[in-house]
Amino acid sequence: MKYFDTHCHLDFQQFEIDRDYVIKRAKQENVEYILNVGTGIESSRKVIEISEKYDFIYASCGIHPLDVSDYKIEDLKEIEKLVRNKKVIAIGETGLDYYYSKENKEKQKDFFIAQVEIAGKYNLPLIIHQRESKNDLIEIIERIKLPEKIVFHCFGGDIELAQYCKEKNFYISFTGILTFKNAKNVKEVVKIYPIEKIMVETDAPFLTPHPFRGKRNEPFMVKYIIQEIKNLKNMEKVDDIIFNNSLKFFNLGGDG
Ligand SMILES: [Zn+2]
Repeated sequence: MKYFDTHCHLDFQQFEIDRDYVIKRAKQENVEYILNVGTGIESSRKVIEISEKYDFIYASCGIHPLDVSDYKIEDLKEIEKLVRNKKVIAIGETGLDYYYSKENKEKQKDFFIAQVEIAGKYNLPLIIHQRESKNDLIEIIERIKLPEKIVFHCFGGDIELAQYCKEKNFYISFTGILTFKNAKNVKEVVKIYPIEKIMVETDAPFLTPHPFRGKRNEPFMVKYIIQEIKNLKNMEKVDDIIFNNSLKFFNLGGDG
């Protein structure tokens, strides 16, 4: 079995003391690829630095909607410089988050649109973060030119948004939330979403899956999310399909 943790934050200070050990353990548990996702400029630099130390770790660069308050729109020029590094395989995370921050909606939108453009210009997949911002996000998606590949990361339990993503041929990726007993709605999304468009991620250090809930999340735990998808879909070869979807999405030598 091979796994791909398509979204985590090993650059965060929660991994400062034992980062190398966490990475080694992931590899031992068959995590063959890790995508470390930047949330700001410093963070994007750091995920590149980590990716240069390990050949199976890649980087995504971007400014998270909850971090836009620290930056000016011109700062995205720095992100543009960073994406020229060959270990950078995606743009993000970017998007809109009105759950934690609704005072700066317009600024979040500007940063999102600008990062969509960078993804288009460099022909890179885009990682979208969405929380309580569905209508504004759809409004923007409908009027601007999008890059070829889009994933809604940490997909929540919104069936309506799932239907929209399905029509648009977007990928969605699931976190440890899926393993929680009370995550009924998100389990329904798994059932209706085409398996060819599903990926998994830990979003470590956050959202630790059952049975490790309460502990710090790590990439090796990604298999518990896949197990839950297997149970819900009641399908063979779910592991291989999800692994290949991820290679294909991030242009890492999958079958297209
Ligand atoms: Zn994240």
